Amino acid sequence: TNTPRILDGVAIAAEIKAEVAGEVKELAVRGITPGLAVILVGEVPASQIYVRSKVKTCGELGIYSEMLTPPESITTEEMLALVADLNAREDIDGILIQLPLPRHVDTKRLLEAVSPDKDVDGFHPVNVGRLQSGQPGLAPCTPAGIIEILKRSNLPIAGQNAVVVGRSDIVGKPAAMMLLNASATVTVCHSKTKDLARFTREADLLVAAIGRPGFVTADMVKPGATLIDVGINRVTDAAEVEGFFPGDAARAATFAKRSSVVVGDIHPAAFAVSGAYTPVPGGVGALTIAMLMKNTVTAAKLRRGLSTEK
Ligand code: NDP
Repeated sequence: TNTPRILDGVAIAAEIKAEVAGEVKELAVRGITPGLAVILVGEVPASQIYVRSKVKTCGELGIYSEMLTPPESITTEEMLALVADLNAREDIDGILIQLPLPRHVDTKRLLEAVSPDKDVDGFHPVNVGRLQSGQPGLAPCTPAGIIEILKRSNLPIAGQNAVVVGRSDIVGKPAAMMLLNASATVTVCHSKTKDLARFTREADLLVAAIGRPGFVTADMVKPGATLIDVGINRVTDAAEVEGFFPGDAARAATFAKRSSVVVGDIHPAAFAVSGAYTPVPGGVGALTIAMLMKNTVTAAKLRRGLSTEK
């Protein structure tokens, strides 16, 4: 029987955070404390949870952090003024605008107003360009986390047939670009792709960033392939949960307690035929905050002309 390797995102995240804490200590010797400002608009419960854990992790690693919490009613102009302020501050290295923003705020304009050198989310067009042309810069956290998982698990990228399903600006596109930069042969698929399975079955390395529970099934993957599951989907239907995890008592207990379980974009039956896979939860998602911390330290170094090489 096949025993796939489980790529433990929680353990890899702990490793990265420990390294970041070490870098923060080295910077402290030079009198530098990296600083992150997080702007959280209004009262979106999920966003509040994310922001709180980002701020908490900063504290654990010795990074200064500041939370700005303007009311829901803030205008685009007022937000732009906040960002301009943070851009100019010497003690702030990273600026993160927690999305989604209220509908009346011009998100695109705001993301472009963040100084590219403080853009720890890596969403600014200048950083998108830097990633594309292989220049040092700040890259989006989730796809950067995928590369960290592969490298730290000693899984090959160069020369592999990598297929990315999903082409969002946040995950799919930057993931494809990073895999290409690491010399994979990259195919990007999306909702208009004809005969998707024809592509996914050829993948040595399959990245699913779709947003549909269990979309990639066992018949769509090459046996022994590495499967990277970015999806975070909440399933609230008992029969559907049982279909994902037949006879799984632990999952059933979670469902009984919370009336939902989180599943990825890849069906567990596909994991079973893989060579290695990232679980959901505890895979790619577990790295996002660690990568944000790493980006904050990178921003602090780049801005001062310090080397980011280890
Ligand atoms: P988007 O909705 O922005 O993008 C989804 C992509 O999947 C689109 O490119 C879409 O194609 C493609 N797609 C949708 N349906 C199909 C289909 N039937 N066949 C082929 N392709 C399809 O999502 P995100 O990229 O933001 O996120 C993807 C998933 O990753 C979500 O579950 C999200 O929750 C999760 N996520 C996890 C993160 C983490 O781990 N920290 C961070 C960010 C996201 P098209 O472009 O043609 O519409």
